[in-house]
Amino acid sequence: MKKVIMYTTKTCGYCRQAKEFLSANRIHYIEKDLGNDVQAQNEMAKRSIRGVPAFIIGEDAVVGLDKEKILALVDHRLVECERCHTKLRVPSNQGTVKVTCLKCKNIFHWAPR
Ligand SMILES: [Zn+2]
Repeated sequence: MKKVIMYTTKTCGYCRQAKEFLSANRIHYIEKDLGNDVQAQNEMAKRSIRGVPAFIIGEDAVVGLDKEKILALVDHRLVECERCHTKLRVPSNQGTVKVTCLKCKNIFHWAPR
């Protein structure tokens, strides 16, 4: 499954919308706040990305909250274990999948909607 990184700044209103969008779609992401993260600034510069929010999904970059593109690129969803409510990252491009909870070892099936 691809890793999702989102670059943000504190003052960016679209970044807030982007976070809500990712959460609503049960997408797991790593947030990098450019305000205090020099390494994140360098990563952006290396890819010639100038605006936020910006997303790195696997090897692809998305600049701006392009919802369709993000949903097309992300290949996982967060699924909650029915027994212990741990959130698990599950592939969303393989139809029905068998999920084993990392915490309680509960096994259940999940299908993307
Ligand atoms: Zn569990």
